[in-house]
Amino acid sequence: MKIKYRIWLCLLFTVGWASVAHAKLNVVATTSDLGAIAREIGKDKVEVTSLAKPTEDPHFVDAKPSFIVKLNKADMLIEGGLHLEIGWLPNLVVGARNKKILAGENGYLVASAGVPIIEVPTTADRAMGDVHPMGNPHFMIDPLNGKIVAIHICERLCQIDAANCNYYKDNLKDFTKRLDRKFSEWQKALEPFRGTKIVTYHKTFPYFANRFNLNVVGSLEPKPGIPPSPTHINSLIPMMKNGGVKLIFIEPFRERKTPEFAASQTGAKIVVFPIMVGGQKETDDYLSLFDYTINQIVSALETKS
Ligand SMILES: [Zn+2]
Repeated sequence: MKIKYRIWLCLLFTVGWASVAHAKLNVVATTSDLGAIAREIGKDKVEVTSLAKPTEDPHFVDAKPSFIVKLNKADMLIEGGLHLEIGWLPNLVVGARNKKILAGENGYLVASAGVPIIEVPTTADRAMGDVHPMGNPHFMIDPLNGKIVAIHICERLCQIDAANCNYYKDNLKDFTKRLDRKFSEWQKALEPFRGTKIVTYHKTFPYFANRFNLNVVGSLEPKPGIPPSPTHINSLIPMMKNGGVKLIFIEPFRERKTPEFAASQTGAKIVVFPIMVGGQKETDDYLSLFDYTINQIVSALETKS
């Protein structure tokens, strides 16, 4: 009798849990920074999956067959857009055969829509190897752009799941409040270093630099997506030396030989900038990504002087 009772309880629990789990919206984000914002807004009403590993180059993601299964079950797909995912996402979406996440549906959100985009070329020259033919797609490294994206995610969640719209709006308010508070702390921390000259590996950091008044004077890649060449590095080094470049920003997935060579020739310091949430163990949400990175930058510049 007791055993039967336990089996029933167990069954009830399993069925109950499954229905609660089923009630959650499946949100798939291409990158973990977009996923982290979806989690802030959707909290326990959403199950968020991020496709790219946080330590992977978001332009060149290893597209696994398991991604198709995730996209097939998705209620919402969030991508950065501006051709960031063009090399790996479109075929996965076709393979997923899920109408909810097709262009024009509420379940398909291009996060860059409504964000002020910089470095928009007058003529797109992807044929020359440039992976930024629509403008710079690394807008999430400006926390104020994260705020815009949060508003759009909230609007979409409200369209897909109107019953919980107030819940999403409250979460948005809370997230925005926390972000604003942190933003003034970050501004204060970086204010003494206004105008500091930096070189970056790829053009990943101009949004961040513009927001916090750092001055990007060059990049190790001659063009976004084109590996550094000896000719380019040889012309960059004298410019870095003469210009007093203090830091070289690189992402965790870059080779180190070129930045280390440039650093050794110029005295600039390398800062490894985790560009996506989870890229370092201290960066498990969108706000801690900036906490961690800004601390790294400040300590690199303080020890320099
Ligand atoms: Zn890029």
